[in-house]
Amino acid sequence: MSLSRRTVLSTLGGGLALATFPLRATRPAISARVIDMHAHLSIPAYSAIFTQAGLTPPGYSARPGQPPPPGGGKGSDSPEAIMQRLAMMDEAGVATQLLSQSFGPYAADQATAIRAARFANDRHAAIAHAHSGRFEGLACLPLPHVDAAIAEIRRAFDELGLAGVGLHTACHTASIADPRFDPIFAELNRRNALVTLHPSVNGLMSPLILDWQLEAAAGTLIEDAVAVLELIASNVPARYPNIRIVISHLGGGLASMLERLDNLMPVTVPKLAGRPSEMARRFWYDTVAHGSRPALHAAVEAFGAARLVPGSDFPVLLPFEPYPRTFTYIADALDADNADLILHHNAQGLLAR
Ligand SMILES: [Zn+2]
Repeated sequence: MSLSRRTVLSTLGGGLALATFPLRATRPAISARVIDMHAHLSIPAYSAIFTQAGLTPPGYSARPGQPPPPGGGKGSDSPEAIMQRLAMMDEAGVATQLLSQSFGPYAADQATAIRAARFANDRHAAIAHAHSGRFEGLACLPLPHVDAAIAEIRRAFDELGLAGVGLHTACHTASIADPRFDPIFAELNRRNALVTLHPSVNGLMSPLILDWQLEAAAGTLIEDAVAVLELIASNVPARYPNIRIVISHLGGGLASMLERLDNLMPVTVPKLAGRPSEMARRFWYDTVAHGSRPALHAAVEAFGAARLVPGSDFPVLLPFEPYPRTFTYIADALDADNADLILHHNAQGLLAR
């Protein structure tokens, strides 16, 4: 967190839920240098806001009978889980996690959306404040309510000292690239904001994914790629060049599409501001790939190592691989220079600005 944001935060009164956290800095292990740009914080009280309003929390748990998300309570915001998380971060050499929500506070009822967004954002700020340097928080926004979202951007940056904004690929049936959200991108552009883009885990609202129970295993990757295509189709990278957007999961297969997109996308999508491959290289991509070396190599070749940042999807991969492995696979797969760039420099550059 920058000095200015920390200073702003330190001036806040009792509005933040700090009571359950020790007000002391927890320093990383000396060797810890990685910034984990894709780490979730599960906040049961945030989910409860949706259920209390008679809504099913969107995302992974939306389908009746769906098993609980992998990783379970390890992602919780309880003090015990936070301390266990810190120990795992130390073991993995992770200095800082950038905390985000796996599903957005998106509700048709504006009061519910605002209440949920403010609750999650206050929690992110409180934990970042209580464990100075170990956590940064991303703000989630009360979509589809544009004016309220802009007000929450202002609160998140100017009052809470959060590091950026976490958007999701779709709000109900609307793409995040829908023109209705242009004022939000304009405000984020004005603030030179860091933005992460995460799947909505909605199976693209398609029975061809949902009826086959594929929304978590593969639908998320398709959502990632489609969202980037929609952002390119609406010329977001060209219209809002100051926003630094980080896409989840190496772009979900986008790396292998660029040549085809350059050939065919201009045929059907009018007024593109540039070649799709060139526009795609204006985003950053996190390295969550479940250890896939082919996916990592393709992303390095397609986007360049300078555009990749470490991510873990914490705690989703913990049942499948130890937390340190989520980062060591990068060093194992790539040459030393590219691995060092990805693990120790790119995210630092994004957060420092
Ligand atoms: Zn995630």
